[in-house]
Amino acid sequence: MIYCLLSIPLLILFYWFYRDKRTLQKQQQRRAELRAQPFSAAYSQILEDDFPLYSRLPDELQQTLKQHIQIFLDEKEIVGRDGFVITDQVRVLIAAQACVLILKRPGNYYPGFQSILVYPDTYQADSTRTDGMLHITDTSTRAGESWHRGPIVLAWSHVIQGARDSRDGRNVVMHEFAHKLDEENAAMDGLPMLPTAAQYKAWSEVLNAEFKVQQQKWAEGVDDVIDTYGATSPAEFFAVVTETFFEKPHPLENHHPKLYEQFKQCYLVDPKQWSKNRVD
Ligand SMILES: [Zn+2]
Repeated sequence: MIYCLLSIPLLILFYWFYRDKRTLQKQQQRRAELRAQPFSAAYSQILEDDFPLYSRLPDELQQTLKQHIQIFLDEKEIVGRDGFVITDQVRVLIAAQACVLILKRPGNYYPGFQSILVYPDTYQADSTRTDGMLHITDTSTRAGESWHRGPIVLAWSHVIQGARDSRDGRNVVMHEFAHKLDEENAAMDGLPMLPTAAQYKAWSEVLNAEFKVQQQKWAEGVDDVIDTYGATSPAEFFAVVTETFFEKPHPLENHHPKLYEQFKQCYLVDPKQWSKNRVD
């Protein structure tokens, strides 16, 4: 009798393991099918017209990005808010900018959430903070946000501006999806999952030192290639440097070579090489 009772949890564990394995197999099969499908000519035209960073990519990475876009659009749900209509242009430009971050990173397509909510323009959002016994609600105007284990929210006016100007160091889609990479290992603390265990020590040393420098510059009102918003917290520093890394790689490497090297190893790409390919 006791053996029968003991075997029940084992059976449940076996069932869960088997079910997860089957789900993973189906997902891998679906992704392989999507990668093999031809990329829509209309989608290519959108990338050519509205996303100059795409045109700078080497051919091999252009192909990888297209495959990522097909999988991303199959797995994520993009929903309009305040009457905003989701078109192919909206879908492709959000997917493309999000997938630049995972061009070469091993792993998944932003697991743990499914929905991306899109407002036509900046929107008002409430946040609550506690001060002693008081709960205070502040309202602020936002261009985007990433809810922990929840949806990403974006303002289309900033999404399209970020896509069309890939040299200004500002990109709301990259910023919010960098937060999603950051939270893959639980806390959103500026420490994403790195490709190898050996990288964590150097990452922590360089990022901590550079974050302190950024805070000092912010306090003294000194400009830097990294936007001052990066001094807000380690999580914001990671997201802001991600925007700078992909959009201003040369100045970032010139002024912060150690930081650039860490981001190169984190994303497994070298965006300063891309500018050699085509002119935008
Ligand atoms: Zn942020």
